[in-house]
Amino acid sequence: MVEDFLREMCEHFLWNGKLMGKNRKNNNTINQISGKKGKSILETLGMTRADMLLGVSFIIAGIISVAAIPVLGGGAGATVEIKVAGELKGIYKLDEDKEVHLEGLGSNTLEIVGGKASMIYADCPDQYCVHHRPVSKGGESIICLPNKVVVTIKGGEEQEVDAVVN
Ligand SMILES: [Zn+2]
Repeated sequence: MVEDFLREMCEHFLWNGKLMGKNRKNNNTINQISGKKGKSILETLGMTRADMLLGVSFIIAGIISVAAIPVLGGGAGATVEIKVAGELKGIYKLDEDKEVHLEGLGSNTLEIVGGKASMIYADCPDQYCVHHRPVSKGGESIICLPNKVVVTIKGGEEQEVDAVVN
C-alpha cells in the first residue's frame, strides 16, 4: 500500500515536471492537472503576458522620448548666429545667458536668456525686431531690416550626434 502510494506520488510529480517544462501554451492543462502549482509567475502576480509586454513597451517608449528631446528643435548644443550686413559677427551658445551689443549700420542689443534669444533694444525706426517673439528653435530668426542684422538659431543636431558617438 505504502509502496504503491509512493510510486504514484513519484509518477505524479514527474508528470507535472514534464508539463512544466513544456511550452507556456500548455498552462491550462497544467492548471487542470496540478492546480495552483502549475500557475506561471505572471499569473500569480495577476498579470497576463500582454500586460507585461504593454508595461515594457511603455518603459521603452519613455526612455526613447527622453533621449530624443535634445535632438528635436533647438535643444542642447543649439547656437545663435549673428550677421550684420551679411558679415558673421558671432556665434553664441543658446544655453548660456548672454547680452550681445551690436554696432554696425545701427545699434542693436540681443539677449540670450533661458535658451531663447530676443532683441531687447534697437535704434531702428520700425522696431519690428524688438517686437519679434523670442526665437529658440533651429531655423528661426529675428531680422532687423533697417540695421541689416540677422539673428538665426542653428539647431544642435550635429553636436548631439557627436556627443553620442563620443
Ligand atoms: Zn529692428
